[in-house]
Amino acid sequence: MAGIAGLPVVDHHCHLSIVGEGARAAARFRAVGGTHLFLATQNYEGKTPMDLDDYRRQFETTERLARDVRESSGVVAYVVVAPYPIDLLRASESLGIEAALTLHTRALDLAGQWVRERRAVALGEVGWPHFPVDAAVGEATRSAFRHALGVARDVGCPVVVHSADLDEVGWRALDEAAREADLPEHRVVKHYARTRRDPTLGGGVVPSYLARRDLVNSVVADPGPWFLETDFLDDPARPGAVLDLTTVPRRAAAIAGRSPSGAETLTVPFVRSVKEVYGITPELPAV
Ligand SMILES: [Zn+2]
Repeated sequence: MAGIAGLPVVDHHCHLSIVGEGARAAARFRAVGGTHLFLATQNYEGKTPMDLDDYRRQFETTERLARDVRESSGVVAYVVVAPYPIDLLRASESLGIEAALTLHTRALDLAGQWVRERRAVALGEVGWPHFPVDAAVGEATRSAFRHALGVARDVGCPVVVHSADLDEVGWRALDEAAREADLPEHRVVKHYARTRRDPTLGGGVVPSYLARRDLVNSVVADPGPWFLETDFLDDPARPGAVLDLTTVPRRAAAIAGRSPSGAETLTVPFVRSVKEVYGITPELPAV
């Protein structure tokens, strides 16, 4: 049966690969109750994109994977596209910073066009490297991130942010970046959040929590919006490097099994947050 406790079950951030399990991973997700995936693009060709056609081909691969997922398992896969923030570093090594930044902003514009055409639901991942970089590259990544926020504002979609884990100061800086770009804070989602954002402290940028058991238990009563994710990479060279794609449904089943109020709390990450942040109502797929 699809869903858990009559609810859709949503993994808010994963990747699939063309050399890994691909759409077959979604069948395992479905078998344990999963119904919806946010499928973020990734570099499928083992090299950093060096021109806009490389990005176009990359996004098309994500779109094809999403279609395969739906056709083979009935799981709904929402497409999320953007040039990966780290690409900017790699491209600048061979193109120089200026040309790399131009390519990156054009790829962000392309991602925005995909959202306009309803081929994607959000820009992601955007942000900055999770490790230290030199000052010039740092400035380029900040400029690229501001551009991403502007594109999202103009097309009216969320951004999914890649960054190091955030403390309260970091969360507030991201709230501020959203405000400066005139993008509603709840349209900015920090993916791979590994520490709880205390909802009593205010601030509107949305955490997408890594679905580790202890973290899920500590946030499950929070009012939201917030999401759960695995950041599944589907990388055959790094099995077990991240949580498996079955993790979110398994956590959901454990919470729903505890009490009826447990099931009720799951409406936050699986229904209400998807509506609030994306304007999408996830429907249960037909069995
Ligand atoms: Zn990711």
